[in-house]
Amino acid sequence: MIPQPQFHGPIYCETGHPWMGMAEPVNTITNAAIIIAAYLAYRYVRKSKVPMTLDFVVLLFLLTAVGIGSTLWHGLRTHWALELDWMPGVAFLLVFTALWFRQLFGWAVGILAPILMVAAAVASVIFFWRYFDTLHDVSPNLRFTPAFATITMFAMVMVGATLRKYGKQAATQAMFIVACAIGAAVFRSIDLIVCPYFAVGTHFLWHLLLSTAACLGIVLMVRMKKASVVLQQA
Ligand SMILES: [Zn+2]
Repeated sequence: MIPQPQFHGPIYCETGHPWMGMAEPVNTITNAAIIIAAYLAYRYVRKSKVPMTLDFVVLLFLLTAVGIGSTLWHGLRTHWALELDWMPGVAFLLVFTALWFRQLFGWAVGILAPILMVAAAVASVIFFWRYFDTLHDVSPNLRFTPAFATITMFAMVMVGATLRKYGKQAATQAMFIVACAIGAAVFRSIDLIVCPYFAVGTHFLWHLLLSTAACLGIVLMVRMKKASVVLQQA
């Protein structure tokens, strides 16, 4: 499908097919999963009896903001709603990366790692498209694939370090989270390519898988914090 210039921002299979007042119905409705993920994560934190520290408040706030922002973007497709769609999502990724690295290596690495990750992701996008710009004709939504690959490499470092510090169970959960995120990135990237075969596209799977990853990420954070207390007491 060729992008249509009258639309502002990213184009999806559903773009231009409004229903019941929603610019992109399936892409709008599936944001409920993000709100549900935030609620389930909130309930898990409360039930697990770890203190509701600022880390969790920020993560839960950002995840809820992603759900609201993404609903507004896919429902309305206005300029301002696009900003509300991506900003809390990127903020969640950076905060979560910082907290996970901090949990593994301490504050200094926790602050440095997301900065390094952003620099590497931006560089990978610039360099990749300098040499493979013809791939843009396949789908404009492939634009962020080099960044997704770079972020995956950082995630693998975190999974490895989680295995060493917190054991197999935590690492298996971490691996499942990363697998969900990779699946989400793939479905986001191929959305426009599959339109002829699957009219609603696959962008909604990006919402479902990423919200699963985010919810389980917060659950993992709780478990690592609990385990850290045990490790300190040992
Ligand atoms: Zn979306």
